[in-house]
Parts: sequence; C-alpha cells; structure tokens
Amino acid sequence: MTVQRETLVLPNEADKLLLHSCCAPCSGEVMEALIASDIDFTIYFYNPNIHPKKEYDIRKDENIRFAEKHEIPFVDADYDKDEWFSRAKGMEMEPERGIRCTMCFDMRFERTALYAHEHEFPIISSSLGISRWKNMDQINDCGERAASHYPDMTYWTYNWRKMGGSTRMIEISKREEFYQQEYCGCAYSLRDTNDWRTQKGRERIAIGEKYYQADK
Ligand code: SF4
Repeated sequence: MTVQRETLVLPNEADKLLLHSCCAPCSGEVMEALIASDIDFTIYFYNPNIHPKKEYDIRKDENIRFAEKHEIPFVDADYDKDEWFSRAKGMEMEPERGIRCTMCFDMRFERTALYAHEHEFPIISSSLGISRWKNMDQINDCGERAASHYPDMTYWTYNWRKMGGSTRMIEISKREEFYQQEYCGCAYSLRDTNDWRTQKGRERIAIGEKYYQADK
C-alpha cells in the first residue's frame, strides 16, 4: 500500500529553502516531496568527498538531469577535494558513521550555510538523511552546527524517511533509472566496500556501470 506524503511547511514561516543534495537517488524523493508541497527551493551540490572524479561527475550529472526535468535551480559548487583530503588526514581508517563522517558532513554543510547566508536563504536542509545507511542524529547535529554560525538561519531536521519516504526513494530511482552508486562516496568508503566484497567473494565495484532499472 502506498503511503501518502504529508504536506510540508518550512520552519519559521520561511519562504525558501537551500537543499544540500548528495546525489539523485537520495534527493529524488526529497525534491518531489517539496514540489508536491509547493515549496520554493534550490539545489546546492557540494560534495568534494566523492572519489574518483568519474564517480563525482556521474552523480552530479544525474542530479542535474533530474533538477532540469523539474525546472529546479541547481547550484554546482566547488570540487575542492584537496581540502577534503586535508581535513580527512589521520581519519583514513575510521569506520563509516565515525568522526571522519562528522568532518565530511561539517565541511559540506559549512559551505551550504555560507552560500545560504550570502544568498538570503533562511532555511537549509540536506537529502543525506533519507538514506537508512546514515545516522540521522549525526547529520542533524552537523547541519545545526553549520546553521548556528548565522543568527537567522535554521537547519531543517525533517525526517525524509517517514511516511513511506524511503520506499518512494527507491521507486523514483527505478522510475528515473538513476545511476546506482555502490559506496558512500569517499576514497576510504570505496576501499572498505571493496575489501568487504573481496572477503565475501564478490566482484569489486565498477565505477559507472550500475543503474537502477525500471522493471526490477
Ligand atoms: S564514508 Fe561517506 S560520509 Fe563518511 S567520510 Fe566517506 S563519503 Fe563522507
């Protein structure tokens, strides 16, 4: 049974939202939920964690394709991977959901909040929280920390997973035949996922190969 979305309302009676997007599969449902509620929003793509560049370009292009389909403004921010690797120094062996991920969310949200401040967006949020692989409290903490640097900014902690959000995320990914990324994004998550696959006797990740299919 398909669960209906609830009508969304931005906090503080705000009139527009800057949505940090990590990729098309995660932001597809978030975008459609915002559109269904007639919320004015702009996509902010800032993900210098994604490695290698080929994977970054595919994820970004998929996100642009979906934004253009819905005529949603899309801000293509920097790919300053050197800064990301510099911040990750000493955390290379940290597990997923650990302190390297806190650093990674902080870096992405700091830039999102700065852009929001410079362009008068009172509310920011992120598609990152819709993934069941992620720790929502960790993401919300990072988002609220980034927003707290600006007096009139709020990080919207809406739970995109609820009321069927996680299910629709997959349905939309299949309908749109999005690129299906097989690891979180950084070089270390790629390494760890490949190590795990090798232990299980599975093939290593082939960048750029796997897409959701409408009939599966
Ligand atoms: S595992 Fe994911 S969230 Fe964590 S540091 Fe790597 S890309 Fe960032």
